[in-house]
Amino acid sequence: MPVAPPNADTRWRCTACGNLTRFDVVRTQRVREFLHADLAGDPVVEESETLSNVIEHVTCRWCNAVDQVELVSRPATAEPATAPTSVAATAPTTGPTSVAATATAGAPAELAPAEPAP
Ligand SMILES: [Zn+2]
Repeated sequence: MPVAPPNADTRWRCTACGNLTRFDVVRTQRVREFLHADLAGDPVVEESETLSNVIEHVTCRWCNAVDQVELVSRPATAEPATAPTSVAATAPTTGPTSVAATATAGAPAELAPAEPAP
């Protein structure tokens, strides 16, 4: 059963354990490639175009649930444009306040490592 891929506004969430970040994906991909071989015969793919891309199964890395993912909204905190402003706002809070801020930020460990967009 195909699984809907996440897009710019959504992400996967394991309905069994709540995992948001670690999944094994089995996909069928159909690709057209421009293969450029040198005179020795070693081919190099210089261009590739994805013709179709179907996700077949998504397995949770935490609990091994298969295809138990749902699409949920991404957190609204990922705003690269306003990032310097928020850093400047949080910068003056030095001392015990910053310690408390880092302690609370470290608590939801699965939310912290924002993976780069593909
Ligand atoms: Zn899971």
